Amino acid sequence: MDLAVGSADGDRYDRQKRIWWMDMDAVSSARVLVAGAGALGNEALKDLVLAGFRRIDVADMDAVEVSNLSRCALFTDADVGRSKCLVAASRASAMAPGADVRPLESSVQDIDVWDYDIALGCLDNIAARLHVNAYCMHHRIPYVDGGTDGMRGKVQTVLPGGPCIQCTVNRTHVREMERRFSCTGGGSMYVPRMASDITTTAVIAAMQVREALKIASGRRDLCISNITYYDGSLCEMFNAAADIDPGCPNHTG
Ligand SMILES: [Zn+2]
Repeated sequence: MDLAVGSADGDRYDRQKRIWWMDMDAVSSARVLVAGAGALGNEALKDLVLAGFRRIDVADMDAVEVSNLSRCALFTDADVGRSKCLVAASRASAMAPGADVRPLESSVQDIDVWDYDIALGCLDNIAARLHVNAYCMHHRIPYVDGGTDGMRGKVQTVLPGGPCIQCTVNRTHVREMERRFSCTGGGSMYVPRMASDITTTAVIAAMQVREALKIASGRRDLCISNITYYDGSLCEMFNAAADIDPGCPNHTG
């Protein structure tokens, strides 16, 4: 053991390397797509860069609005009206030496090169989720989907060959979620202008980035095998089993 005073403190990732499954070399070389530069995207980018990811593309076509500022660590009042992905990429790149966060100022539907090792879904609508999910399934890219609705959220990790977002949407999981969360109020998930707050966003984005760390480190066996639902009002999480839908078009051929 090295007992020299301060020797371990000179290594930026010394503490992270002490996590038994972490492979920092693999993390730093992994190519990551962050789909969406809103609240979840901000948190995910911050965590990705601080955790050691260096090669990141972030896609979004929206501009920063005042109502975003309560949940976005990378935006300030002066950024209102500017491109979310341009600002987020610039700020995240400045958070760590060698971080190369590149903006894709387009919708996820217009991304035509899918040569990523990992994709994170930080999106606010089901259509964009299903699009990223389908492309990731086709290109065999692990996809970590996050979603929030006020105090509630979910994380689903889609690995090549396993159940995907399309398999599970509008099926038993949604009914289970509504049953489990019925005491916390109504409303449907994934619709515009829903309730949102930074604490739920931070939890869900952190779980997404932790999944990305496992995937990059070659430990897919440690990933969420089902869907994890989070209820911040009650501080509860539960898993819903995910199965391949025989009718899902993403599993044919
Ligand atoms: Zn599927």
